[in-house]
Amino acid sequence: MVAWGVAGLAGLLAGSFLNVAISRLPFGQSVVSPGSHCPRCKHRLGVLDLIPVLGYMLRGGRCHYCQEPIRSRYPLVEILASLGFIAVAERSGLPGALVSGWIFTTILIAASFTDLETGLIPNLITYPGLIIGILLSAKTIGFGASLSGSIGFAGLLWAAAALSKGGMGGGDIKLAAVVGAFLGIQGSGITLLLASLAGSVKAGHLLVKGRCGRKTSLPFGPYLAASAWLAWMWGDQLLEIYMAMISSLSGI
Ligand SMILES: [Zn+2]
Repeated sequence: MVAWGVAGLAGLLAGSFLNVAISRLPFGQSVVSPGSHCPRCKHRLGVLDLIPVLGYMLRGGRCHYCQEPIRSRYPLVEILASLGFIAVAERSGLPGALVSGWIFTTILIAASFTDLETGLIPNLITYPGLIIGILLSAKTIGFGASLSGSIGFAGLLWAAAALSKGGMGGGDIKLAAVVGAFLGIQGSGITLLLASLAGSVKAGHLLVKGRCGRKTSLPFGPYLAASAWLAWMWGDQLLEIYMAMISSLSGI
């Protein structure tokens, strides 16, 4: 329980930082200064406003100073990060895996929400993410696996983007490089499988509803990120399920 508390708290703090990063990085603004303030009235936020989730609830989801509604993304990201950190802590045996998993979770949430809100994944997320992923691999999957995963997955998405002429942006390809650095080739394969499955379900749904043509690009980043996180958590189990499905389908 203590471990859960620590992980949950670390996740809330990471979520708090993530909210600042998601709001500022796409516009090239510093995540350090100025301090957190209301985007409308510019009032500097107080200690109470800054408490993750609870601050939002205490203030009734509005800015305490001008009553502007605060976007629900703020508590959502904090809760997601907190649950993600707890799940990673449950899953990882060694400290190296824990640190790597927490950082990976943070990068994936940042990439997902910047993509959802702006349609772009800033280089300020993917470039440092790639370097950190490769460096941390010394304590996890190993340097060679990290490097080959990174080049392999990014190369594959790059080729897919070139063939499909759009639909996938440079940010997605760079995110794939980060995912490959953390997961290696096998984890990247599982990620791609899950992301394509989720992406095609969503695309099919939109096509049926007539919301988009075949060429309309969907934000692929959040699917990629969510799939990569699942692959980090349960990659081996997912692969087993997939292999079992393939062998039952082919009647072996
Ligand atoms: Zn305000």
